[in-house]
Amino acid sequence: MTETELYPQLVIPETLAAGPGPGNTDPRVLAAFSNAGLSDHMQADVLRGMIECKHMLRRLWGTKNTYTFGVAGTGWSGLDALFSAILPGDRVVCFVNGTFSGIDALTVRTKAATRDDLKANALDPRPANVTVIEVPHGQSVTAEIIEKALAEHKPTWATMAHWETGSGRINDIRGLSDACLRHNVMGLVDAVSSLGVEDFAIDDYPGVAGWASCPQKGVLCLPLTYAPVSFTDRYIAHLRQNGCYSFVHNPIFEARHWGIVDGKDVAAGTYHRTHSAYAVAAFHEALRINLQHGRARRAADYAHHEAALRAAVTALGCEVTSNMTSLVVLNLPGALAGREKELVANARARGFGIWPTLSEPVQIRIGILNQLSQAAITDIVTRFAAEMNAMGAGVDVGLALTAIERHYAAAIAAE
Ligand SMILES: *Cc1c(COP(=O)(O)O)cnc(C)c1O
Repeated sequence: MTETELYPQLVIPETLAAGPGPGNTDPRVLAAFSNAGLSDHMQADVLRGMIECKHMLRRLWGTKNTYTFGVAGTGWSGLDALFSAILPGDRVVCFVNGTFSGIDALTVRTKAATRDDLKANALDPRPANVTVIEVPHGQSVTAEIIEKALAEHKPTWATMAHWETGSGRINDIRGLSDACLRHNVMGLVDAVSSLGVEDFAIDDYPGVAGWASCPQKGVLCLPLTYAPVSFTDRYIAHLRQNGCYSFVHNPIFEARHWGIVDGKDVAAGTYHRTHSAYAVAAFHEALRINLQHGRARRAADYAHHEAALRAAVTALGCEVTSNMTSLVVLNLPGALAGREKELVANARARGFGIWPTLSEPVQIRIGILNQLSQAAITDIVTRFAAEMNAMGAGVDVGLALTAIERHYAAAIAAE
């Protein structure tokens, strides 16, 4: 490539995104994205769309929290806003049981670090005021673990992932909320993987002061748009009193563009930063789809199809160690053990986008975001079995397909 040559236009293939996320985005969302007119971030319908999104988010998340809105970007953007109120020297307990809660803890350690803490270890600070409770990969954070740590350390904040996507484990947010109330702690929850998949209402967890999710997992709005966040009045009051070291991710400032000023809904947002009409239109449509499907129905559908996938991969000799309903995390049968990354790489080269775990031990993650049909699950299992057999596993695909058919037939018989 010389300096005057142009790269050819970028062509990206359609793959089967069968990982932990992103999930395949609904064509309605893509149409909303590309059919939006060019309008600036203060145009009346863009502002109206943002306010409607705010109201839909409150419904989807089951909350009356006024400070419920979207932070432009990905899950980490929302989490950065969530953790923004943590200041140097703050006492924090972080529960870690996989890759993502581990990165949450890194974010927290960075924010809670003093200048000396940062200087001592700039990229991985270890402030003494942050306690990280490590729960082994493949296990959940339980109420007992949470109670013990909060009673002992009496922090201002406690952080946990609701669904730890790295190991596929659901953590006990009831336990977190109750322990936070008992010990007067503000819980902060990474709900990146659970929003839009699980049926839960955040107002049922009053010990949790702040929540953050992402656009591209359960909400299914991959034209990366908005990371949903929600804060209780207590969080906002604490932030108002103590401040934070961010302009863009200060939740009080950021909320203004969504028509939330001084704790109240106002008729139209005021400028915080540029928003994209395309993103607002796509996010709006994704939220409409979520609400049309319904929180309870959607959660039941995920559980139903995840059970089919689980039965099928078990019939192929794999061992499932996860309990989330948007993906399975599994160990390959003995003969293929240690070759997880190779299998995933082969699958990905054929447009079948599954994932390994990103931290030890290496396992395989197969997700079903927006793949809620017997045909889609059958396709995923057929492709996965083919990859196992291409590596010499010699598994009987028929056994897996029979497991799938039995699962769906039993559901029909029960209706
Ligand atoms: C995916 C994920 C993240 C990171 O989200 P990005 O959108 O990649 O920034 C954080 N936490 C959890 C639990 C996740 O599943």
